[in-house]
Amino acid sequence: MAQHILSSGKHGMTFQDFLSGTPAGDYVFQQVPYEEQVRQAGELIRDAEFILVGAGAGLSTAAGLVMGGSRFRENFKEFMEKYGGPYMQDMYSAGFYPFPSEEAKWGYWSKSGMVNRVLPGALPLYKDVYALVKGKPHFVLTTNVDHQFFLSGFQEENVFATQGDYGLIQCRKGCHPKTYDATEMFRQMDQARKDCLVPSYMVPKCPVCGGPMEMNLRCDRYFVEDDAWHEAQRRFGEALTECEGKRTVLLELGAGFNTPTIIRFPFEKLAREHRDMSLIRLNMDEAVVPESLGSHAVGINEDMGKSIRDILREVESNAE
Ligand SMILES: [Zn+2]
Repeated sequence: MAQHILSSGKHGMTFQDFLSGTPAGDYVFQQVPYEEQVRQAGELIRDAEFILVGAGAGLSTAAGLVMGGSRFRENFKEFMEKYGGPYMQDMYSAGFYPFPSEEAKWGYWSKSGMVNRVLPGALPLYKDVYALVKGKPHFVLTTNVDHQFFLSGFQEENVFATQGDYGLIQCRKGCHPKTYDATEMFRQMDQARKDCLVPSYMVPKCPVCGGPMEMNLRCDRYFVEDDAWHEAQRRFGEALTECEGKRTVLLELGAGFNTPTIIRFPFEKLAREHRDMSLIRLNMDEAVVPESLGSHAVGINEDMGKSIRDILREVESNAE
């Protein structure tokens, strides 16, 4: 079975082959002291020939891009007062508000684009992740849409962001397979916004069909996968093929159970079927790992900023 699924035939392994993990039935919280887990993780990374990073929402939350709480209330006070109700709880639910006009929709999304994409710059935790892997061949698969990997030092050819980007827009109906950088537009909208609305002349229109535009975020079948997306998908397949037969660390950062089929389950499957691959799972609350992976898994249930810094220190202090 394992041989069948992962056999590197003529084309090697693809993203589609990768996306076929099933839930583990033997999750455990490891009964190993934190310091020992950090030491194990450091050793695995030092010995690795390849590091495959899989990053989910938990990484960006730990890095400071919190979608709710005081960060939401401080940045979106005006929107909460204007729209109220059940949607204006955090930046996830607010994005689904049925905005009554394009002026209102872009009023909101330009604000979101500013606070999540334009203003933050490279965050320290992302830079630490880069420091941890930069000495080894590596590749990143992420469901995060905040562009942080690209900002914090990773090369574009080593990152596959599958779910879109807070700084890109597309035709709402996906009438043509292109995305457009909207960061400058968001800056201008941010200056011009009044009462949560942007002026009508600023509302973007599809250059092909003339229809409305939308954020390039995967939420329905109209999500545009442009040339860059397909190229990144192809390179991810190459990275998977390169991993096979190598001592590979699967470094999973904050990938919980929202979309476990994209990173979490496939990583477990890789570790299960390749004895030379090891899983390091960092997660604040959900660092359970399949017991059957034995010493091929380290699940650290801790604040991720702290774990990454401690592992980095461990790797650096023992480097030859
Ligand atoms: Zn169009």
